[in-house]
Parts: sequence; structure tokens; C-alpha cells
Amino acid sequence: MAESLPTIVLASRNRKKLREMADQLTCYRLQLISAADLPHVPDVEEGAHSFAENAALKAASVARATGHWSLGDDSGLEVDALNGAPGVLSSRYAGSNAADGDNNRKLLEQLADVPDQQRTARFVCYLAVADPDGTIRLQVDGVCRGRIIQADRGGGGFGYDPLFLIPEYHRTFGELSPVVKSVLSHRARAFQRLLPQLVALLRSS
Ligand code: IMP
Repeated sequence: MAESLPTIVLASRNRKKLREMADQLTCYRLQLISAADLPHVPDVEEGAHSFAENAALKAASVARATGHWSLGDDSGLEVDALNGAPGVLSSRYAGSNAADGDNNRKLLEQLADVPDQQRTARFVCYLAVADPDGTIRLQVDGVCRGRIIQADRGGGGFGYDPLFLIPEYHRTFGELSPVVKSVLSHRARAFQRLLPQLVALLRSS
């Protein structure tokens, strides 16, 4: 009989990000629920100054609210010519209710005078796992390096994907297939580190 591991609640509410996270977990027999699908789970403010703290905050508070293991994440874009901005403000770069298009426009405006070679950037993803008591048991991160181009290309992905060029592929994440993104991305790299540890931890708990 297949081994059954405990349910894990994904703390994110961003549907496109959730899809990518669930894809990373498909080959493990993990039962996943999204906090977005559970009533009475409070929204967690990303109030901290670092990705790592935000991921831990989300995991701990969703675990306490649900009594389940929880996986919290925080991710974003760091642009070298902007001293790491938008960073933890990536989803709110152009304001608290900004849509992806607004954030992308602002990013292009901020980089208007920056030549191609200096438009280097990286996507980062931080993951934290909390046990049902809300204690953080695992923390990992993943990075994907690229360059911000002058105008968006491709309709795939979400967020800054149409502006983020993977130099080795000469394509943005908006142009590359989801399968390629699921291997190369910051999220993929963080999950590659997390999964063996997570499965071992759940099996021993
Ligand atoms: P979070 O929900 O606070 O992690 O927000 C992450 C924000 O960073 C998103 O709203 C996007 O703007 C950006 N971001 C994170 N990961 C990606 C990605 O894989 N592609 C494009 N943008 C991303």
C-alpha cells in the first residue's frame, strides 16, 4: 500500500505561484491544500524586511491556524542596478494594489537609462516549513539569474516573467514553456533543496 504522508497547507494565495509549487510536489505522495481554499485562515501580512522572515511568518501562522504542517514561501526580483529593488516589495512595487502590468511598467521606467549589460537581476525564492505547532523545521532558498530586457516578451508565467531573460536560452520566462521554468526557476531550485529534507522529516514525524 502507498505510504501516506501528512497533509501540508501551502500558505500562499497567489494561484499562479500555487500551481508552480504544486507542480514541484507532484512526484511525492504529499496531500496538499491551499490556504486560499480553507475558510477562517487569516491573511498573513508580509511585514518583515527579509524574504526568509516572511516565508517563516506565513508558514508558522498558517500551521497554527490550521493545525497542519504548512509550507510558507516568499519570492521576488532583485535588480542589481536598483540596489536589489523591488526585493520584498516585488508584488507591490507600483503600489499596494498594483497589477503585474503596473509593476512591470515601473520597472522599465526605473531602468530606462540603464544599458543592457548592466540590467542583471535575480529571482529569489525562500521556503519555510512549520510543523502543526507552528515551529519552523526547515528553511531553504533558491536563486535564478537573468537580465531585464527593454520590453516584455511572451505571455506565459506571471509577474515579471515577460521581462526576465534567461541569457543561455535567449528567451524570457514569459516565452519559455512552463516545463522549462519548472526546472530552471528560483522556485524549482528551492524545491530541489527542500524536498528530500521535507520527505525525511515527515516520515520521521
Ligand atoms: P510574493 O507572493 O510576496 O512571494 O510575491 C512575489 C512577487 O514577486 C510576485 O507578485 C511577482 O511580482 C514576483 N515574482 C516572484 N516569483 C516570480 C516568478 O516566478 N515570476 C515572475 N515574478 C515573480
